[in-house]
Amino acid sequence: MKRAETLLTSREGHLLYDGADLVELAGRLPTPFFLYSERKIAENAAALREAFVRHHADTEVFFASKACSNLWFLRQVGRTGIGAEVNSGGELWKALRAGFAPEQIVFNGVAKTTDELEQAVRHGIRAVVVDSLGELERLARAAAVVGRATNVLLRVDVHVPTHTRPEMQTAYGGKFGIDIEEAVAAFRRAQELSGIDTRGLHLHIGSQITTLEPYTQAVETALDLLDEVERACGLRVECLDVGGGFAVPYKESSLKSDPTDYFCAPYSLDDYAEAVCTALELRRPDLKLLIEPGRSLAATAAVLVTRVECVKTKHLRGGDGRRIGEERWLLVDAGHNTMLDLLAVSWYFPVRVASRTGEAADTPFRLAGPLCDGGDVFLGDEETPWRRFPGATTVGDVLVLLNTGAYAFELMTDYNGRPRAGGYAVSGGEVITIRRPETYQDLISHDVE
Ligand code: PLP
Repeated sequence: MKRAETLLTSREGHLLYDGADLVELAGRLPTPFFLYSERKIAENAAALREAFVRHHADTEVFFASKACSNLWFLRQVGRTGIGAEVNSGGELWKALRAGFAPEQIVFNGVAKTTDELEQAVRHGIRAVVVDSLGELERLARAAAVVGRATNVLLRVDVHVPTHTRPEMQTAYGGKFGIDIEEAVAAFRRAQELSGIDTRGLHLHIGSQITTLEPYTQAVETALDLLDEVERACGLRVECLDVGGGFAVPYKESSLKSDPTDYFCAPYSLDDYAEAVCTALELRRPDLKLLIEPGRSLAATAAVLVTRVECVKTKHLRGGDGRRIGEERWLLVDAGHNTMLDLLAVSWYFPVRVASRTGEAADTPFRLAGPLCDGGDVFLGDEETPWRRFPGATTVGDVLVLLNTGAYAFELMTDYNGRPRAGGYAVSGGEVITIRRPETYQDLISHDVE
């Protein structure tokens, strides 16, 4: 899988991302900020589609818009011809506003409201992914109210364990989907209800899935289940949606790396496609395959640029309180307010000093954000709390976090009274604004005085 590094070059000691000088940009744009690459979005979308189509010609891609639902970003995705997966009425609204046709949209969600179900039916979207038996009944009522039938995929918990963070595992117990033992009954009920057109089965095993077996196992389980459903209900379904989850390499990795280190992603998109499609081609080549990648499309398409605001040295003390050494801290202006994953799931992002590319990164530093929160500290390298940067790194230097294009904009907060960061993009050789940076005024825009 290609990394963000492939877009990184250097010139006169400065790091460039897709040709844009990050130090020069940090001199004229308020830091922290995200910088997207239009060309990388298109490359990633094409790579995903090509990998899966190579293994199963009848594949359709729906970008999981929760990974980045910025309007400009969605428009770039739409321009590549792929569809959108949405998870709420708000994401549906944004996808439509970004120009996706209703037939290009699938709608997931564990607790959709009546209003959201009615919106989905009214717009005639490609499919509503039904997450429970109760929701199936509510969707049938929504179809009756709107006076229009709707396409449905039934999301089943295929009970497959994965090597990822426990919070990011979504088909091995937990709140998502219909229990596999209730799946046949759910398909049968869907057949009985008017206004419900059953099109297929949906599964999504989680995010940042770094091994292939869970996909193979999930598809085999789904195909076994479809055999049973089709026999029991006398129906022939059209689609299998396998969700997303394809991992992005946040750390250097090789096929030999530990698959349980979920920051390493040793497998390529082609490997994922093969894992998903082999059983499908063998057993049900007639099925249309739907995939819903989020992270693998968006993550490597952006970097986060931040500035060092403070350097300090603290003594390290042993259990008896005596000094045993010291460590240097770099405090930057982006913390978990800007990249919530740093805190919420202790995520690792590669970091470089953009303003010192000619200097050896040989000195250990602790790296932390600006927030009044002891958890606002970046993970270190190789089981240590430290990152290695050039020894002279100091206040004013510009740092860049790589692979930050997914699950970033949406999760920003204004915690500690820090306006949310802006977003920019390299588009046709120019740097354009895609999300204006917030101001102090924005901090109070919803408050009633
Ligand atoms: N599909 C569904 C139903 C999801 O919940 C998610 C994210 O969790 C995705 C697709 C996208 O996952 P990823 O960003 O790991 O590809």
